[in-house]
This record gives sequence, structure tokens and C-alpha cells, in this order.
Amino acid sequence: MTAPTAPLLGQMMDVPLLVSSLIAHAARHHGSAQIVSRRIEGDIHRYTYRECEARSKQLAQALIALGVEPGERVATLAWNGYRHMEAYFGVTGFGAVCHTVNPRLFPEQIAWIVNHADDRYVLFDTTFAALVDALAPQCPRVRGWIALCDEAHRPAMRTPVLCYETLLAVQDGVFDWPLLDERSASNLCYTSGTTGNPKGALYTHRSSVLHAYAASLPDSIALSARDALLPVVPMFHVNAWGIPHAAPLNGTKLVLPGKDLDGQSLYELMEAEGVTCSAGVPTVWLGLLTYMREAGVKFSTLNRTVIGGSACPPAMLRTYEDDYGVQVIHAWGMTEMSPLGTLAKLNWEQAQRPLAEQRALLEKQGRVIFGVDMKIVGDDGRELPWDGVAFGDLHVRGPWVIDRYYRQEAGTPLIDGWFPTGDVATIDPDGFLHITDRSKDVIKSGGEWISSIDLENIAVAHPAIAEAACIACAHPRWTERPLIVAVKKPGAQVSREELLAFFDGKVVKWWLPDDVVFVDELPHTATGKLQKLKLRERFRDHVLPTALAAAEQCPMEPLDLRTNDRDEGAGAADHVKSAALRD
Ligand code: ADP
Repeated sequence: MTAPTAPLLGQMMDVPLLVSSLIAHAARHHGSAQIVSRRIEGDIHRYTYRECEARSKQLAQALIALGVEPGERVATLAWNGYRHMEAYFGVTGFGAVCHTVNPRLFPEQIAWIVNHADDRYVLFDTTFAALVDALAPQCPRVRGWIALCDEAHRPAMRTPVLCYETLLAVQDGVFDWPLLDERSASNLCYTSGTTGNPKGALYTHRSSVLHAYAASLPDSIALSARDALLPVVPMFHVNAWGIPHAAPLNGTKLVLPGKDLDGQSLYELMEAEGVTCSAGVPTVWLGLLTYMREAGVKFSTLNRTVIGGSACPPAMLRTYEDDYGVQVIHAWGMTEMSPLGTLAKLNWEQAQRPLAEQRALLEKQGRVIFGVDMKIVGDDGRELPWDGVAFGDLHVRGPWVIDRYYRQEAGTPLIDGWFPTGDVATIDPDGFLHITDRSKDVIKSGGEWISSIDLENIAVAHPAIAEAACIACAHPRWTERPLIVAVKKPGAQVSREELLAFFDGKVVKWWLPDDVVFVDELPHTATGKLQKLKLRERFRDHVLPTALAAAEQCPMEPLDLRTNDRDEGAGAADHVKSAALRD
């Protein structure tokens, strides 16, 4: 036997993948590309990547002067703006960790997160002065609170605060980004806590840079130096989907909207800055649509937008594409995945299919980007087929997926090396993911799953409905049945019966909702997702008319609906007729 030979090592430079290299690249090779910000102060601020890097270096120097050590956490409570960009690079560039905190959470939750992360300093926009006054006594380990403003705009506060511009002014910006270990931590984000206490995802420099490459790919957001990108998704939520990293990688012009995220403010900024591309959750796009319809205006430069964070209703997708000429890229991901996982874009062959088939594909959450792998598994943990019919728990893995939660005391969440997402999905033969529910939101009727998201999508396709949630409601016969809780568009009329009838023929019979309740508004989480837990609590005692009838007729054990009135062999999702979903 011959002795095993050592592998032949390659002879390429071992250059670490660092977040600082993104801004250094933009400053050196796209130095004059712009970052435009609508400031909290009310005006428009405009500067270049070159200036952004210079000030990020001043911030790094200022934090080092304050005694911040590599590995320590520096938090932000801020809107999308240029000073927040500087924190993304100034904090991480010398090895500290940029911890973006969601200011829309309850103060107690924020205090819990700041204490759990053990943040040393907190940089905050002056809009959050009162919040900081409430937080400071609860966060004794924070060494200082830094107001993101100059002396003239320093807010009157109980808490002693430092002033950002004053700290920067005494630094010369002569600073070389140190060569760090690419596996060291760069950013920390907590999940919004829709599933219990917030949990921290601690990204590495390597994962952030790889994710930025992935976000840029042509079948991803397809960023380029010719784009002007307005991220509506906040920089305090999953790093604004990685846009602050991907934009400098490409030299993309960035337009940062600050705190005004209403339809009119966004529209005006998009038009004024020639925005070509945007990204945000469906709620924001709903606001923008409402404004544009009422004002009778169209986009002159916007050509595409990424919609994710919650399912994008097909009716919204159609309206943006057909009425406004904007391509909607439906995307799925989560905090634990940095967050990008899948995006819906057609390949060459799919683009030759009949229009209805193309549209049905684009309404799904799409195909994974290189780097991420996914599978669906059944209750027994076995992988399920990609037939577009089998529902299962969605598991993922990849270099920008967490291995464990930050400071998680017990165990790792991984199952056989895969991260269980908590989502329930189908995957079709095209490899397109279709999220049907959060596992905790699934409606189990007579032992079978009904997709609440599919039913919500149909409800909002009704011309009189602005928003809808579908929740499980107790039923003596089927255990749970779907209840639609809907908000009407202003001035629009529709009765309970009319809305129920609207579902006829669009789903299999046993998926038809049992009841509709109209409300003035639906509860949302701090990140714009429907708060179904709250709704389920509110409607816990709601009595479905069908439940009354069933209780009178046959108070019996739950039946197995599989034997009852179900189109055998057809996937539930396939019964949702995309053609009927037009507004
Ligand atoms: P949190 O879990 O704290 O609410 P995330 O923003 O990380 O915060 O949420 C991730 C979850 O959001 C996913 O697991 C999924 O349930 C949901 N989600 C994200 N994008 C989509 C989408 N396009 N369609 C349906 N659900 C989505």
C-alpha cells in the first residue's frame, strides 16, 4: 500500500472576508457614488461612499478612545440614515459588534435585549430621546448613550448623553482597518420575539460578506452601480436584509428614507432620487399603493422591488406589475439566515411557459440562492418529496445560517446539522418554495392542514378588502376551522356572506373559511407582521356558526377529513387559482 499523500494546497492569497472591505472597496472604486438620506432634522443630506468611509473611520477612532474593545457590542436605535451606515462600518471595522436594536419593540423588551447583549454604548436617533430616558435606568451596564446629532440638535434629556458629531470632530480619520479573523463576530440582530423571548443571531464578517455577494446576484436582488436603491426595510431589522453591505459591494447609490415611511414620503423620495430598486415588507407596499391610487401618480424610474418578511399577497404583486410596471421579487428569509433564503425568479425554461403558470410560480417564495440548501421534513423527520403537495417543516443550512443562538445556554437548535425554521412549506418540482404557514399558525382541521396564508391571499384579492388574517377557531367536530378577520378598504362595502362566497371555487371545499369578522385594524408586530397570537386570544371564545350547527347535530369525536370531500391527489396550494387573485 502506498502512503496517503497530503492534499496539494492551493497557492492563493488568504485574504479574510471583512465587512470593512466593503466600504473600503466602495470608497476606493465607487468613491463618488452617493448616499442620500432624509434626515431626522428634516432636510436631505447627500454625501459619497468616500466620505462615508472617512467618517466611519472617525467613529472607529472615537469608540476606541471611549475604551470599546474588539468583541464588545455597540448598539444602535436608529432609522435608515447615513450616520447609521457609519455605525455599520465604524463599529465592526475595528472588531466591535454592531448590534442593531428595533426601537418599535416595547421598552421592556428593548431593555431585555440591551442587557442580554451586554451593550457598551448605544447610538440613538434623537427621535428616541424619550425612549432612551426610559431605558437608561434599566440598563446599568451601558457605559454611555450617544445621540446621533450635532450640538445644535442635542435633545433635552434626563439621561446624560454624548453627542455623535462632537465625538467625531476630534478624530482625524487617519486609521487603517485592522486585519481581523473573518470568523469573528460583526453584527448582532435579535428576532422580533413573535415566538417568545427575542433570540440573538450573531453574524460573522465572513457570513456578512458572503451574504452580500448572494444578495447582489442576478437572480437575487441583482444590484449594480447603475442602480439607486431605497431600502424601506429598516436597518434595525436583520441588517435591512443585508443592503447596507451589498450596496457598497456594488457601488450602488443608496437612498435612505429616515423615519417617514408613509406612501407619500416614500413616493416623493423615489421620484426625486431616481430610485430604480427598493425592498420592504408587504405592509409598507400597501401604504404606497394606497397613496399612489389616491394621488393618481405612477413611478418614473422604479423598476423592481423585493417584497418579503411576510407573504406578498398575489393581488399586490399583480397590481405593482400590471398597473405600475414594477417587477415584484417575492423573497423569503429570516433573522437566523442573515436573512436571504429564496427569491422568486424564473429560469429560461419557465419563462417560456403560459403566462398563468409563470405567474403562479412568481407568487411563491422561489428558489434558494447558492449557499443555502433547504428541505421539508414530515413529523417523523424524514425528507418529503418536492411535489408541490406535501407540506412539511422547512429546514435550511448554509454559511449565513446560524449554528446556535447568541448566549444560548442550552443546546443548539440544529437537527442533524440543519436549522429548523419553524415555517411549514411545500416545494414543487421546479424547486420553488411555497410557505403555507408558521408552524404555530397552522390550522389543523380534522387532522389535515389548511394554509392560512393562502386564504388570506384570497381575502385581500377581494376589491373591498384592505387586509386580512386567517386564524384557527375552535370547532367541536373538526377541532379547528378557519376564521377570516378582515379590514375593509376605506369607504368600501362587502358583507360577511359576500366575502365567504368569494372563496367559492378558489380552494377545495374543506378549506373554505367558516366565518368572517370585520375589524377596524389588525394587530402587527414591531416588524410589520400580523400578530396572530393576539388575534387568536381575542377570538378565543368566538363561536363559529358552523360550530353551533355541528354541536347541535352531532357532538362527536373529530373526524378524519381526508375521507371527506377532498379532491384526491391534488395539492391544496394548487387549488388556489392564481387567475382569480386579481384585484
Ligand atoms: P421574527 O421571526 O422574529 O418575526 P423574521 O423577520 O426573522 O423575524 O421573520 C422570519 C419569518 O417571517 C419567517 O420564518 C417566515 O415565517 C416569515 N416570512 C418571511 N418572508 C416571508 C415570505 N415571503 N412569505 C411568508 N412568510 C415569510
